[in-house]
Amino acid sequence: MTRSERLPINWPAALMLILTSLPVVTVLPWYGWTHHISAAAWICGSLLLMSNGMSITAGYHRLWAHRAYSAHPALKWGYAIFGAMAVQNSILVWAATHRVHHRHVDDVDHDPYSARRGFWFSHVGWMLRDYPSGRVDLSRVPDLLEDRVVSIQHRHYLWFVLATNFGLPIGLGLLFHDLWGFVLIAGFLRLVASHHFTFFINSLAHAWGRQPFTSTNTARDNDFLALFTWGEGYHNYHHLFQWDYRNGIRWWQWDPTKWLIASCAWLGLAKDLKRVPDFKIQRARLTRQFERAREALAASRPHSRLLALQSQLESEWQQFSETIAHWTALQSEKLSDAKHQMQDRWEHSELRGRLQLQIERSLRAQRRRVQNLRRSMIAECVPV
Ligand SMILES: [Zn+2]
Ligand SMILES: [Zn+2]
Repeated sequence: MTRSERLPINWPAALMLILTSLPVVTVLPWYGWTHHISAAAWICGSLLLMSNGMSITAGYHRLWAHRAYSAHPALKWGYAIFGAMAVQNSILVWAATHRVHHRHVDDVDHDPYSARRGFWFSHVGWMLRDYPSGRVDLSRVPDLLEDRVVSIQHRHYLWFVLATNFGLPIGLGLLFHDLWGFVLIAGFLRLVASHHFTFFINSLAHAWGRQPFTSTNTARDNDFLALFTWGEGYHNYHHLFQWDYRNGIRWWQWDPTKWLIASCAWLGLAKDLKRVPDFKIQRARLTRQFERAREALAASRPHSRLLALQSQLESEWQQFSETIAHWTALQSEKLSDAKHQMQDRWEHSELRGRLQLQIERSLRAQRRRVQNLRRSMIAECVPV
């Protein structure tokens, strides 16, 4: 018997999930077959789905849970209203639970939606029995207790949920003369889709995909998942660099949440956007590549060609460690007392820029060499 099975059922959450899913699999197909559902219902349903999803990813997650940027109160209210419409609990409870997830990721006893307890548990099971509502450790979110938008939304959460989930679909349905079409599409279908898109981040994004940055937890990067999780599919990167306002760091990676935040910054609604320096990202990638190459070599049967590759890999690792040590020494030197007086000049000098560029170039070159090395190993029939 698992820990969650011993706990009583969380009836409010279970009933909410069952009663919203049932009409989607029963009434909606029948109604769609026998009645005409207006295009307006589909368009408004999609827009509400997007606003709910992005209020969770850009607001609940990156703004409040991780403090990846600061937002204007107008933007916060938008997130608070449309985030409540997604019915995933108040910002305060959501952010507190999510911070515990990051702190104890994969720990079967402390991670609230640990992927090590199986797909069903991490997707939805954790809410049915082991939902932490009512005993959330608010000591994790002292900063949020001082946020007016957060505390008002927490105190009146139920009213926010009812007004948005009933008021908006019914009001829009009456306006467009398609009440039941709107209730079913913009009400039920939108909410169920919004739920599962977010739940996939806790389940699939911890099970399916690649690990280009870290193997210390189960989080994965998955381009396909990013498509319908508003960019949260780059979860391996996110677990290593959780305070970056981006999850997909390449310009072409599908992360509409980062584009929304950047657009809000351009409009003056967001500021202090945090980004992990390229150097640190490059270092994480390279460390991971060395790790994978070493694992592959350790798993293979040694023969002369592989032994040569192994010694080449060791020498690359040596160089890489030296470059990192050099960089770290430069950083500490910069911060030392002797250099302290020169800090202003140093911050703006060309010397610092040139050194950083030189080290980043050297790391990129090493990364290329490791990639070539891995290709050689693949050619030697080594599964990398
Ligand atoms: Zn996670
Ligand atoms: Zn997170």
